[in-house]
Amino acid sequence: MKYKILRIIFSFILLGSVLGALNGYWSGWFILLVAVIYVSTILILSTNIRLNFFQNSIHSAMGREGIGLSFDDGPHPNTLKILDILDEFEVKALFFCIGKNIAEHPEIYREIIKRGHVVGNHTFSHSRKFGFLSTRAIISEIQQCDHIATEVAGLKTNLFRPPFGVINPKVSRAITATGHITVGWSVRSYDAITSSPDKIFQRITKDLKAGDLILLHDNIPQSAKVLEQLLVFLKQKNLTAIRPDHLLDIDAYS
Ligand SMILES: [Zn+2]
Repeated sequence: MKYKILRIIFSFILLGSVLGALNGYWSGWFILLVAVIYVSTILILSTNIRLNFFQNSIHSAMGREGIGLSFDDGPHPNTLKILDILDEFEVKALFFCIGKNIAEHPEIYREIIKRGHVVGNHTFSHSRKFGFLSTRAIISEIQQCDHIATEVAGLKTNLFRPPFGVINPKVSRAITATGHITVGWSVRSYDAITSSPDKIFQRITKDLKAGDLILLHDNIPQSAKVLEQLLVFLKQKNLTAIRPDHLLDIDAYS
């Protein structure tokens, strides 16, 4: 609906700019400017999952006590370190796993579940071109990931997080077709682009509050150090880490 309104507004602006240019009120460059603004707007809206523009996603549980921890892009050999640290602090987390990584490390995937954590779908291949795929290709990416999860661990996850947090009209249509619940985040660590654990830790804890859902990556070596620091910090601040599906009050499996 919001997208329809945006398209109508821009269509009128574009029509006005074409008519204005034809009648000599302004140069033809104005049409190009309108087109560039439109494309930039769509790009900003589709790469900011928290704006809920194309699809409603769950990002946090404001008003609830505790915080949630989520890890993307595993399973990976580094995931085992993360699991040991979580065990040490008796914390349960949510892991959005990539299908091809589940196929590569089925024993680590099963270990995540065995230790009481919850898993979600993060597509089969985590394609860099995810934002440019057709609706059919996105549905296939989600279903392939579901398929391997069922094959390896015998479960069907309801939860989905799009790679890079990209949600455009095609992704939205695909999610509606597969029936998943989309889970975003309220605190992004940018751990994939910063190598300093201290910087990542500071970024996460700067404005951290009850109800927040934190995004980390379990396939990144520095995540283990960040997680240890973070769990000590949470204890000091009396913030309990609650398994995200419980924190957000959603059913992880069907
Ligand atoms: Zn990812």
